[in-house]
Amino acid sequence: MAHHILEGGFQEWESPLYQEALKQFDHVAELMGLDHNVADRLRVPQRALVVTFPFRHDDYSEVESVFGYRVQHVLTMGPTKGGIRYALDVNLGEVAALAMLMTWKCAIVGLPFGGAKGGVRVDPLHLTRAEKQRVTRRYVTEIIGFIGPSRDIPAPDMGTDEQTMAWIMDTYSQQVGHAEPSVVTGKPPELGGSIARREATGRGVMSLLPLAAARLGLDTDGARVAIHGFGNVGSYAAVAAAEMGCRVVAVSDISGAVYRGDGVDVAAAMEWVRRHRTLEGFGGGDRLSNEDLFAVDCDVLVPAAVGGVITAANAEDIPARVILEGANGPTTTEADAILADRGVLVVPDVLANSGGVTASYFEWVQDLQHYFWSESEIRGRLHEIMARAFREVAAVADEHRVDLRTAALIKGIGRVARAKLVRGVFP
Ligand code: GLU
Repeated sequence: MAHHILEGGFQEWESPLYQEALKQFDHVAELMGLDHNVADRLRVPQRALVVTFPFRHDDYSEVESVFGYRVQHVLTMGPTKGGIRYALDVNLGEVAALAMLMTWKCAIVGLPFGGAKGGVRVDPLHLTRAEKQRVTRRYVTEIIGFIGPSRDIPAPDMGTDEQTMAWIMDTYSQQVGHAEPSVVTGKPPELGGSIARREATGRGVMSLLPLAAARLGLDTDGARVAIHGFGNVGSYAAVAAAEMGCRVVAVSDISGAVYRGDGVDVAAAMEWVRRHRTLEGFGGGDRLSNEDLFAVDCDVLVPAAVGGVITAANAEDIPARVILEGANGPTTTEADAILADRGVLVVPDVLANSGGVTASYFEWVQDLQHYFWSESEIRGRLHEIMARAFREVAAVADEHRVDLRTAALIKGIGRVARAKLVRGVFP
């Protein structure tokens, strides 16, 4: 058998991303002088559900069993919110770390949610559309009592998309007996989703560039941008960068990177990926390895794929002056310190990629009210919320003389800690 269900499944909490999330949290909790009773509570998720389930391959005789997870980190301020990821390295620790990051992210932009995350340990590139649909419907069935419009609202993440969200909405609705669009966000426009949500994470990331660049006195006009990852986040970050008058000099995905000094044709690259699934064979530039992308001569680097890619091994050689974290957890704590020493401005994931969950929040509110806003209203409010969050975080950074990640976490953790204190301990 090619792949055993328990492969990689041991030491579930030991994931590197969870260790990093805890390191960041402990550092900031200490700096803030956070009451240890509250800190202890926030280091671990409130609820974690682990499921295993089978799905049938298109080859009818093959039934594969896989692990699925849904973790809810903090239930204090409202329902929990966060994406669902399909990837081979998904485990309990990783999902717990991502749920924790969602809590801080929602608190930083001021959304009435705690953080959650879900995932299935499966390789989405090796699933046919029909297999992916069966995985999704069975996964949702396994976690159905755990989610709901006022309980926990999933959304897309790596390896899932609008179609996946439509299947989640359908599966949930079949069970409750009526259409329930508000159970999930990032849906296709036909089901109450918006084009603005599809583009929100990537565009939101780039919308912070002028604010970040201003802190360094950097001119964004003609700035060279390298983007690691060309999925939903990376591709729309590239579109937005080109629209802003930046030059997208490199993009990459699992097949490797494409470099073009005078700018990659972003629309052509997106069209290629739409037809061929990856950048493999795309002729619009020189091919580089994924690792080489980090050393490409550029002004702005946007990690927009997996976590843990900017490490002590490459942080020294990154030429960019600004890093906008589209991905969740792309930078290790060690790398963060090196970058700070070198004067590289890092706009952290919990701030930089918060446009996605903010647009999700709008979608959920509209679904609940059955009243829909125009695309330009959604974009306008999104921009306003993100710019405000950036300014508030920057003010904390200046006041405490800390980097933007520390400042963002001070703001996010502080808000959650205060909410916990006023609710008190039951019973
Ligand atoms: N998965 C996205 C994130 O990591 C979006 C979550 C959401 O829209 O709820 O922020």
